[in-house]
Amino acid sequence: MKPPSRPGTVLLTDHAWPDDSVERAVVEEAGHTLVTGPAEPASAEAIEELVAEHRPDGILTCWAPVSATAIGASPRLRIVARLGVGLDNIAVDAATGRGVWVTNVPDYCVEEVSDHAVGMVLAWTRGLAVADREVRAGHWNPAGARLRRLSTLTCGVVGYGRIGRATVRKLGAFGCRILVHDPYPPKDAPGVEPVGLEELLRRSDVVILHVPLTPGTQHLIGAEQLALMPPGGLLVNVSRGGLVDTDAVIKALGNGHLDGAALDVLETEPHVPAGLSDQPGALLTPHIAFSSDASVTELRRRAAEEVVRILAGEAPAHACNTPRGLPAGPGDGR
Ligand code: NAD
Repeated sequence: MKPPSRPGTVLLTDHAWPDDSVERAVVEEAGHTLVTGPAEPASAEAIEELVAEHRPDGILTCWAPVSATAIGASPRLRIVARLGVGLDNIAVDAATGRGVWVTNVPDYCVEEVSDHAVGMVLAWTRGLAVADREVRAGHWNPAGARLRRLSTLTCGVVGYGRIGRATVRKLGAFGCRILVHDPYPPKDAPGVEPVGLEELLRRSDVVILHVPLTPGTQHLIGAEQLALMPPGGLLVNVSRGGLVDTDAVIKALGNGHLDGAALDVLETEPHVPAGLSDQPGALLTPHIAFSSDASVTELRRRAAEEVVRILAGEAPAHACNTPRGLPAGPGDGR
């Protein structure tokens, strides 16, 4: 472990919220200086220039690219902390090679994303969005409602990680049957039945995706998989758009095989294909499942605390790498 360091400089490359108050409070409380870049993510070259100018000890980044050149531009750099989960905007290998920690905040929005998934299921079983649209359009027609009793349905959760487990816990309160598919199936989850993907699709009225997007999960759900689902079901995707073949979903909604598709993420986002928004069974939100006042504040505070921890010579809470020449951190390596 490194000894505590002198007051240092921390560069916040960009921020997806109105100000830098949370990050500034944490960084300055620890005696360091915060330099803040433009709110909108700048180009890789602009970030490289910012790093070369300020030579920060720590970098906090939301979406802006932190390239190998940027990482090499500050000899004092000890940590690049992601304000989020994914690391695709950070040259992690370059950081590792230079003895620089990379951290993330993997669990700041578990409650929000699982709430969003369960909310989408309830919106479908209770017809909330459809009924709201009809009432606003002047149709007060209770006899036309086609609603469902959730406790009689089977929900299949694909991906039993942090968020999948939270969704399963919350769905459990509604009394529905719960199937789970994960390459690492749960061993000690009472009330949860681990099954293969094909069996899950065949038996589930509701299919909820909580898996990461990787080359192996691209279009995990396409025409073939949707055809396995019982007619009249619901697909929920609050993970990544690329998991689902949108054209296949549009077709399945169009021919009635799928009754609903609740999607917080799209492979074409922010573009929404007209064929999708035209479908009455589509329930669409603009990649906001992670968001709440509490989750965003927690994210900002915890990412800034990682920087302070490293500059104090302490171990990170969520290491995503093992920097050359340093002992491994206690994080989960993602
Ligand atoms: P996690 O890593 O804790 O869990 C993912 C689980 O998926 C793991 O248990 C893994 O074994 C499993 N898995 C991997 N490949 C699989 C496959 N082919 N089939 C079935 N299971 C598979 O991740 P998490 O924190 O639960 O997050 C899940 C995903 O949610 C993230 O990867 C991210 O894409 C998405 N997410 C979305 C938002 C949003 O705002 N919409 C916010 C945060 C996370």
